[in-house]
Amino acid sequence: MAASAGASSWSGSSGGSNSSQGRSIATAQPAQEERLVVAVRVRPSMEAAERCIEVVSGGSLLYDDGGKSRPRQYSYDHVFRENDTQEQVYKTTTAPLVRDVLNGLNAAVFAYGATGSGKTHTMLGPVPRKKPQTAPDRPPATASCEATDVSSLDIGLMVRAIEDIFSHIESAEADTCRVSISYLEIYNELIRDLLNPGGPLELREDHRGQRITVAGLSEITTASRKEVVSLLMKGNKARTMEPTAANQTSSRSHALLSITVQARTPLGTKQGRLFLTDLAGSERAKKTKNRGKRLQEGAHINRSLLALGNCINALSGGARYVNYRDSKLTRLLKEALSGRCKTVMIAHVAPESKHRDETKNTLVYADRANSITTKLQNSV
Ligand code: ADP
Ligand code: MG
Repeated sequence: MAASAGASSWSGSSGGSNSSQGRSIATAQPAQEERLVVAVRVRPSMEAAERCIEVVSGGSLLYDDGGKSRPRQYSYDHVFRENDTQEQVYKTTTAPLVRDVLNGLNAAVFAYGATGSGKTHTMLGPVPRKKPQTAPDRPPATASCEATDVSSLDIGLMVRAIEDIFSHIESAEADTCRVSISYLEIYNELIRDLLNPGGPLELREDHRGQRITVAGLSEITTASRKEVVSLLMKGNKARTMEPTAANQTSSRSHALLSITVQARTPLGTKQGRLFLTDLAGSERAKKTKNRGKRLQEGAHINRSLLALGNCINALSGGARYVNYRDSKLTRLLKEALSGRCKTVMIAHVAPESKHRDETKNTLVYADRANSITTKLQNSV
């Protein structure tokens, strides 16, 4: 393992001998018509309660606003049902991106949704609070899951992506590849290194505003998948967890994992990067009944998500200029949103009627994102 902490390039724009290919998207879109791929995942219902969502197919769902109007149908690239597995979600959304990253392209997945809608479950898997019970119909934990005591069926996209990258590398020529990770959180508009927790880190950009770097962020190189997984788990423990009325273990921070793969080829070095982001809850401050510090957190989280929403609105509306500068989150995700990177957004919703308003907000947000084309965008 080798750790370095310089000005870690977040955008990854320095690498990629074939980075020009990074403009095509995982779905069959014409080369000039790239879209953000949008999936919606409905988490299992926690109780026998009235529902506001019915999935009608792998690409559409019906939303019921409580009888005020007729149920409305929303369509996306993918809709995951409550009993769809972590593996199905991984194979559909992230596995194609891993192949691209191994070919020297950049790609990003971000999990969006209100607190309690299942974002962390998708990205990481269940976070054990106490000694988990052994379910008789589940296989034993694999080596890489031991650190989390989580069944191999439940492990999330971050670990699956790491496993997948190492499997590909091991089946090819391992010694020609280098894998490194960095993991940061944005909490109250401050960036913290989750692999080497300390004071806030500064964002820097080059004079053209194109290449974003996080000064002092550790970038850890490792040759073993087990080590990467344990770094990830350690980093996750360092995340800022605060109880809110909406979810006891809700994380109030945005967590951004970056996995870089460098491969030596006869033609030179190619570098690909995968960004995996677990966003903080998108609910409005009043839902969490917050006061003081919590309310301030809500304001910062909403500022970042508002800025992200504004970018998505601008991109989907074909605006000439898109302002990424309003928050740290959008500055870091600029690469992912502006078309130099293949990007998948997984929007998460709860099916119970009591979450109807948040569910609707997420569906509308995802609907806007669904119409983003990135071909002609300029940005500031
Ligand atoms: P968020 O990160 O959006 O706040 P969590 O991922 O913590 O939400 O999910 C809230 C709860 O719902 C957790 O107990 C989690 O294990 C459970 N959960 C969410 N999605 C699923 C799913 N697809 N299958 C099983 N349990 C889930
Ligand atoms: Mg979470």
